[in-house]
Amino acid sequence: MKAHILTIGDELLIGQTVDANAAWLGEQFSLLGIEIVRSTTVGDTAHTIHTELDRAFEDADLVVTTGGLGPTHDDLTREVVADYFGVPLRVNETLMQMLRDYYERRGRSFPEAARKIALVPAGFELMDNPVGTAPGLWYASANDARMIAVLPGIPQEMKAIAEAALLPRLRTRGDLQTVEHRTLLTTGVGESSLQEKVGDLSEYLDDALKLAYLPSTSGVRMRLTAYGDDRAEAQSRIKQLEQVLRERVGRYIFGTGDDELEAVLGDQLRERGLTVATAESCTGGFVAHRLTNVSGSSDYFVGSVVSYANRVKVEQLGVDPDVLAEHGAVSEPVARQMAQGVRTLLGANIGVSTTGIAGPTGGTPDKPVGTIWVGYADAQGDHARRLQFVKDRTVNKELFSTSALEMIRRQLQRRAASQEPA
Ligand code: ATP
Repeated sequence: MKAHILTIGDELLIGQTVDANAAWLGEQFSLLGIEIVRSTTVGDTAHTIHTELDRAFEDADLVVTTGGLGPTHDDLTREVVADYFGVPLRVNETLMQMLRDYYERRGRSFPEAARKIALVPAGFELMDNPVGTAPGLWYASANDARMIAVLPGIPQEMKAIAEAALLPRLRTRGDLQTVEHRTLLTTGVGESSLQEKVGDLSEYLDDALKLAYLPSTSGVRMRLTAYGDDRAEAQSRIKQLEQVLRERVGRYIFGTGDDELEAVLGDQLRERGLTVATAESCTGGFVAHRLTNVSGSSDYFVGSVVSYANRVKVEQLGVDPDVLAEHGAVSEPVARQMAQGVRTLLGANIGVSTTGIAGPTGGTPDKPVGTIWVGYADAQGDHARRLQFVKDRTVNKELFSTSALEMIRRQLQRRAASQEPA
């Protein structure tokens, strides 16, 4: 089955509302095995909606529209759809009665405009709206050559109708493909560099097996998708591709699906009986926040010193004031001393530190906005890494905190590989 998602509304075109409906429908359809040929948006103009329906049915057998189903004068979808299929709009008496009851129950008089909601194109079925007044509409022509689902624009109503009436209906229709997804989560490597390290996959990838790189502030997700008529075959192709990716870039992969770096790291620390403390300058406690978002983190997280002022770096963490003066707060020796300092102060096995320039001000040619030193210390010694990120303060704080978590993960990985105790 091939689908076209058509979202309708001037507010979507002018950027007042973000098109959440297309994203949600796209995800649901792809999980169901429906191929989405195109997703488009048009304004509240009869002519454009009509033209887009024409275009949509050229390639798709299913068109799903959202928006413009309400009672106001700019809600045109039902009229245009009726006109498109050449059928009249008729009052649905059951629906009309339901609407009257709805207003009566609320002690409100029935507004004339609401009559419009009871108008249904002839030959169309209603799809119940469990959370609002306007039901969805459904029509399938002979042999399902042209199917249309007309849904309201309000995301909550659209989803409720789709879940209760549309998706179950589509699931029973025969020609759905099998779609298998698997997501591998990486961290500590950028999108381009990851792709480079993965290398040539042309002998594995084709129209039925795809790989997408999806970057975020906690790392790059690799989404593997296999399509086919046979579920076992799709699963086996995904498995094979996963194996190749693990061979090539396995050291960056920290989890799968909805795993979170802080939780995966927490499990590794618990398993090895290790504790962590953080010394945070530019992240302002964000690393500690992420670590403590995980239930049970008291097993391995000791505490944090938010050493934003240099005075705190010196007085609490024991950073040498001469080193600070010579190298500046955003520097390798300071990051290392902060990590050692917090480890000693709070009595943890591992100390991790962040010192950087989150921006948007404070950058210099040597240390532009987005520069961070992440320090790491344990009983064996200490070291630090310099990384360079972007100009946005919030994004930087997220990226910086991910780097600090990644620093610990990488060190545990190294130790595991060399069988050394931490
Ligand atoms: P109503 O019965 O309220 O008139 P409707 O079906 O006519 O519903 P619209 O009037 O087009 O829907 O949109 C109602 C609201 O739903 C919009 O103000 C907007 O906030 C939201 N909305 C519409 N389309 C989308 C969309 N594609 N993604 C996210 N939100 C949307």
